[in-house]
Amino acid sequence: MPQLSPIIRSGRIQGRVTQLGRAISQDYAIKPPLLLPLLDGAVLFAADLMRAIRLPGLTVEFARASSWHGGMQSSGSVELGALPDVRGRDVLIVDDILDSGRTLVRVRDAVLAAGAERVRSCVCCDKPGGREVDIQADYVGFVVPTLFLVGYGLDYDGRYRHLPDICHYREDPSPSSA
Ligand code: 5GP
Ligand code: MG
Repeated sequence: MPQLSPIIRSGRIQGRVTQLGRAISQDYAIKPPLLLPLLDGAVLFAADLMRAIRLPGLTVEFARASSWHGGMQSSGSVELGALPDVRGRDVLIVDDILDSGRTLVRVRDAVLAAGAERVRSCVCCDKPGGREVDIQADYVGFVVPTLFLVGYGLDYDGRYRHLPDICHYREDPSPSSA
């Protein structure tokens, strides 16, 4: 039986999202960004984050990026769907979790190649232990340990995405760690 242990509760997530929204609102007061959440994982984080950003000129468009082909394994290659028109825009990529860094590098490079003026990123979770390419996010909700996480947008084969807490997912917990 899989075991789900909450590691970041919904209340803490909401408090942190409010802080991130405030910081982004201050940093982008002169030129509101184009918020670019990456589907599917960023859907819950982005929905909360955009409501915490107090900028009347904010625009939001979505892109699809995926590197996971089921289960707990990344395929290593990142598939990126169509991008909105980013020419001359100040783009803020929003993702659920920064792990190897391949997704963020791929999307950042594509957005710059498509003519964006500046690209920055905001991730709900940063898993620095998983990093394989050199990239940092500009805004980070939580630094998390190198565990497989589900909830708050993070899924396991489409499941658990809707959970309000971020949870550690374990397939076969040993009796001693239960
Ligand atoms: P990266 O390209 O940085 O390795 O990974 C980014 C993507 O991998 C995330 O957007 C997310 O979809 C997926 N990912 C990375 N770590 C986890 C995790 O612990 N749980 C889940 N469900 N997805 C993850
Ligand atoms: Mg993702």
